[in-house]
Amino acid sequence: MVDSPKAVGIDLGTTYSAVAYIDEANRPQTLVNGEGDLITPSAVFFDGQDIIVGKEAIKAIASHAPHVADCSKRDLGQKRYHKTIEGREYPPEAIQGFVLSKLKQDAERLIGDFQKVVITVPAYFDEVKRKATQDSGYMAGLDVLDIINEPTAAAIAYGYHQGILNPEKKASESQRILVYDLGGGTFDVTVMEIRDQEFITLATDGDVLLGGRDWDQRIVNFVAEHFLAEHNIDPRNDPCAEGRLWRDAEDAKRTLSAREKVSIVCDYQGNASRVELTRDQFEEMTGDLMDRTEFTTRQTLQASGLGWGEIDLILTVGGSTRMPMVEAMLTKLSGKKPDRSLSADEAVAHGAAIRAQTILQESRGEPPPLRIKNVNSHSLGIVATDQKTSRHRNAILIPRNTSLPATARRTFKSQREGQKSVLINIIEGESDSPENCTRLGQCEVRDLPDNLAIHTPIEVRFRYLQNGRLTISVNVEGKEKQHEITRENSLSLTQLDGWRDYIHGFDTGA
Ligand code: AMP
Repeated sequence: MVDSPKAVGIDLGTTYSAVAYIDEANRPQTLVNGEGDLITPSAVFFDGQDIIVGKEAIKAIASHAPHVADCSKRDLGQKRYHKTIEGREYPPEAIQGFVLSKLKQDAERLIGDFQKVVITVPAYFDEVKRKATQDSGYMAGLDVLDIINEPTAAAIAYGYHQGILNPEKKASESQRILVYDLGGGTFDVTVMEIRDQEFITLATDGDVLLGGRDWDQRIVNFVAEHFLAEHNIDPRNDPCAEGRLWRDAEDAKRTLSAREKVSIVCDYQGNASRVELTRDQFEEMTGDLMDRTEFTTRQTLQASGLGWGEIDLILTVGGSTRMPMVEAMLTKLSGKKPDRSLSADEAVAHGAAIRAQTILQESRGEPPPLRIKNVNSHSLGIVATDQKTSRHRNAILIPRNTSLPATARRTFKSQREGQKSVLINIIEGESDSPENCTRLGQCEVRDLPDNLAIHTPIEVRFRYLQNGRLTISVNVEGKEKQHEITRENSLSLTQLDGWRDYIHGFDTGA
């Protein structure tokens, strides 16, 4: 057991999660869960009075599908995606909170109690989803020291293996790397530069609704259509039969990464179909998904201002990069073979663990062995009214891919004598139309000084922190005050505390 203050790194994935810490020899190590596995399925089974997280929850989909919540990471920050199980509504943050609670309890059996963690998020996560992730950590009784982007974490793990983080090693040439991260539910591509011990993100883009699950879905539909044609009934109409089909589809997909063909058997209501699927067929039926990642990869490279000739290395992370079509596409696109030396399942958690350790070192006054420079993945804007057309539009204050921390100021003028408040609607996104952007919330400046003269400047300062979170301060007549954002899609502090107590009451460990 390690007894110095502990901080661990958590890769909280859509389909699988992993936990790592830094051992006595200063090496990142994955902590196996209570079942002895390196990764834990991010699924929760509500079994009457018990709450079961991980492998058993995935198995329960075959018999109790309506009682299992999985892939909640995709729903973070969206109010309408609360899951109702046995009459109780669970926000996605709480489901992720149960997953984190299991990861914490299992890891504590190996390294003793801890609270401090660094959690990773897709680089393309917006501010609302980042806050929701921090809230999940809070609900699980964790102290979230930082949230860092998954590709950055992977690059840190790469840097560690290259000896870049070793202070005795002479500063090496800077390296430019493209991280292609295709996980279970999200896709990210990030262009980074590693210079000395600094990890600088140059550009990032992605899709929070694209991942291995979408490849699985194509196999599910392929088999179900076949079954329907043969027996005139659709197994997708029964949640448990559909759950079994998803499980077998994922299994078949993994087989196709190693073999040229696979057979999938679908059993439903006393009928059975055996369907054969070749790798070529699979690649054809998912070609459009691959094209989407290719398009984003091209765009991100362009946004970084670099050409393929200036990229030293392509790093692939995320379980779905084991599909041979990923390597083939990247090699064709760039003329370079991607580097697959990092463990696709563990690299992100290892990078997070290294980051967690550096935060502890910094708090002890030691020089940090690495520095991170991030960019924002979505433009920050406010809803403005077009003077000519009176239509609402997105007035962008901090464009995407701006180096963080970043600040923007906007001065409003009071419109009448004695005005008491100003309301600002804050959004994230690239579209000119606010309806197509993510509503982050409102900043209602209510406590303006009494008897404020008309046309008094009210300066609002928006500041993105390094972790992609937003803070707001307001300056009126020389007095600056931090300002709360009223969020539409977040839980209140009282709700968070309620969930924290509720989750704490369950033994979710193995
Ligand atoms: P991650 O979020 O990085 O843990 O990635 C999980 C995703 O990787 C899931 O969709 C898995 O089905 C997928 N995956 C894991 N191993 C393989 C494999 N050998 N071939 C294809 N996909 C895989």
